[in-house]
Amino acid sequence: MTLDAKDPVALTQALIRCPSITPQEGGALTLVQNVLAAAGFACHRMTFTDAGTPDVENLYARIGGNGPNLCFAGHTDVVPPGHLDAWTMPPFAAEIRDGILYGRGAVDMKGGVGCFLAATMRYLEKTGGTLPGAISFLITGDEEGPSINGTAKVLQWMRERGERIDACVVGEPSNPQALGDEIKIGRRGSLNGHILVHGKQGHAAYPSKAENPVPKLARIIDRLSAAALDAGTGDFEPSQLVVTVISVPNTATNVIPGRAEAHFNVRYNNAWTRPRLEDHVRQICQAAASELAARIELSFSGTGDVFLTKPGPLVDTMISAVEAATGRRPALTTGGGTSDARFIKDHCPVIEFGLVNTTIHQVDEHVSIADLETLTHIYETFITSYFASA
Ligand SMILES: [Zn+2]
Repeated sequence: MTLDAKDPVALTQALIRCPSITPQEGGALTLVQNVLAAAGFACHRMTFTDAGTPDVENLYARIGGNGPNLCFAGHTDVVPPGHLDAWTMPPFAAEIRDGILYGRGAVDMKGGVGCFLAATMRYLEKTGGTLPGAISFLITGDEEGPSINGTAKVLQWMRERGERIDACVVGEPSNPQALGDEIKIGRRGSLNGHILVHGKQGHAAYPSKAENPVPKLARIIDRLSAAALDAGTGDFEPSQLVVTVISVPNTATNVIPGRAEAHFNVRYNNAWTRPRLEDHVRQICQAAASELAARIELSFSGTGDVFLTKPGPLVDTMISAVEAATGRRPALTTGGGTSDARFIKDHCPVIEFGLVNTTIHQVDEHVSIADLETLTHIYETFITSYFASA
């Protein structure tokens, strides 16, 4: 059976039938590559490796010549289905019932990949292959996993080759209720913190001979949790620090432990830069520590810095395409978790628009056939307008 590359439903079904649970390729990238290669795209397949994480396959494909390079970015890996018994339809069968297509990845985000592929094929057919620029696909198999051997490394590979992209659409499911709700134009940054309070181990009956780090840690994290970081900005909600782990390596009630530690996560907006935020958190901790005469160590990690794509042609073109297809004006939002857009923002303006995210990572993940058709229509209009004004 040959696949109709202009049909988003057939493409999405074929992709769902590839069991590509991170880090397995499952045939999904090969399917995308075959469709693109048949349409004349130059395809580069790359496997990246890093100590302590699984090898992951990625794909960069491009068609066209000089002029702006419009990139579609996404992933073909999916999260595990969980308990198979809980699914009404098998998660990798891609069955359609009453106009709804069921399967793992239906909306996150094999459906989005299928729609952009179909839209591109329709656009290329309509224009007879004469492109005023280039269209490229950056598809990773490592978005749902550690995200180490995926998009970040493909972008690095592109930079080394002088391969430029000028605008990027990430097809993650951006709509909370219905197609046309939201275009994501930014994401909050994510910073992880670890605080360690040193004490002196001793007998609970002789506390003066020991130094108990537990109440000190409790007071420091109370101070951290109560700190109002900012009141939000025009484009973002207020930044928030959330303590997520308290851990004291002690099982004996009659022993004062020698150390106590906590982990926290900060989701921060564009009122902050990462270094200023680290300084601010450090000051809160140190002020508390000196009042308590606590000896502390503080460390930070996290790769997702805050970003905001300013209003401009990329955002406007997508707003118009969404409005034309749905009759609804999408809100421009910055909420939710991180995505691979956090890596792409260092290369070009990036926005996220895809399917509806109500069933992502759940059992019975599904998408309506109507949504797949509408999203394909939106993407095709978007590509047409983007190159018309380029
Ligand atoms: Zn996703």
